[in-house]
Amino acid sequence: MITEAEPDKRAPEPLRLVQQFVNSAELDEDDEELASPRDLKEWLVSRHLAPPGARVTGADLRQALEVREGLRSLLAVHNGAGADPEAAARLDAALEACTLRAGFAADGTPGLVPVGDGARAGLAHLMAIVATAATDGTWWRLKACADAGCRWAFYDHSKNRSGRWCSMKSCGNQHKAKAFRERQRAPSAARGRKARS
Ligand SMILES: [Zn+2]
Repeated sequence: MITEAEPDKRAPEPLRLVQQFVNSAELDEDDEELASPRDLKEWLVSRHLAPPGARVTGADLRQALEVREGLRSLLAVHNGAGADPEAAARLDAALEACTLRAGFAADGTPGLVPVGDGARAGLAHLMAIVATAATDGTWWRLKACADAGCRWAFYDHSKNRSGRWCSMKSCGNQHKAKAFRERQRAPSAARGRKARS
């Protein structure tokens, strides 16, 4: 069972759904929440992204995983990794079958509405959330952890958007300890330079 990001690393609603989607795999623990079409269906239905009667196929699952990992690559870009046009193109292609239309809520508020009711509509719903987050600025604060083995999605609440780790307790401290060990191994001149910087 995968736990959620720490409370101070959670994205505001509804972007938190996208964060939960990316974190449905814990790469460093080899833990996968979406191991079968049935898992994907349960994941979507429990979050009201698909109706209980939705049919979810193996192709839907493959598409969802492609979308999830594409999102993860983009979240790494938010954390200082170089632009990744290939990942963006793959994600874009994976979303080809997901359709959104302009729609209006009962109170007249306009928004993006998924078309259909299967797994694809569920993914389209997540993309509507991403599109809205991109315009209100919250999207750029959703990042993949800088630890290459982790890449867990976290929300950067810091003022200057400088957060790098999903958790200071785990990834951040591990990185600090590694950097410290490397400094210890480095020639003393280099160590001196580092110490003064
Ligand atoms: Zn991490």
